[in-house]
Amino acid sequence: MVILIFYLYSYGYSDRKIANLLNEADIPPPSIDAKGWNDSTVRYILNNRWYIGELAWFTRTSFENSKKKPEEEIFLFKNHHEPLIGANLWNTTQFFRNYKQNKDHMDSPYILRDLVYCHECKEKLITRNSTPAKSKKKYMYYCCPSCKKKISIDKIHESIFADFSLRWGRELKYYEKQTEKILNRWKKGLEQKINDLNENLEKRKPEFKQRISIDLTSL
Ligand SMILES: [Zn+2]
Repeated sequence: MVILIFYLYSYGYSDRKIANLLNEADIPPPSIDAKGWNDSTVRYILNNRWYIGELAWFTRTSFENSKKKPEEEIFLFKNHHEPLIGANLWNTTQFFRNYKQNKDHMDSPYILRDLVYCHECKEKLITRNSTPAKSKKKYMYYCCPSCKKKISIDKIHESIFADFSLRWGRELKYYEKQTEKILNRWKKGLEQKINDLNENLEKRKPEFKQRISIDLTSL
């Protein structure tokens, strides 16, 4: 469950959304007294250093005050036990925790919000929902605040996703090849270095032998 919670957060789900999903799936909350999950239970798990193998000590502000101390004042035993959450996943969630301004971004149909601009005006597109009440059909748009041109979200999503998946496939292959080249170069370099060291060792063997015999005779 903890791993799932970390993954959901790294995908962009908010604390509250994760709590709702867990409640919908009837996953029992950590405390048996609790009625269900809420955003603070989820947040507590996502901020708990125990899951990355660290033991936090002296986390309370004082004996009387249970409020958590600032992060940099907490005493940490690193590598205290085997971590459940890898460093990459932890760092991703911490990044989102500090960065996230637009909470519940993943719940919005406007997934390209803050990412798309008007080609002519260079303005960030704003979102507009002109769906009349009771209408089955949705009328949702991205609009330019300057020239007022608009485009339906289906149209723009379709074309951007098609383009993105095409590029993504190409890029992956390209990076695979590049990485192979780099690793091969490293391998050659290391083999050369080992050869040089071995040759050097062979060359200097007589010298070492002599030194050892001198040391022994001087005893
Ligand atoms: Zn415009």
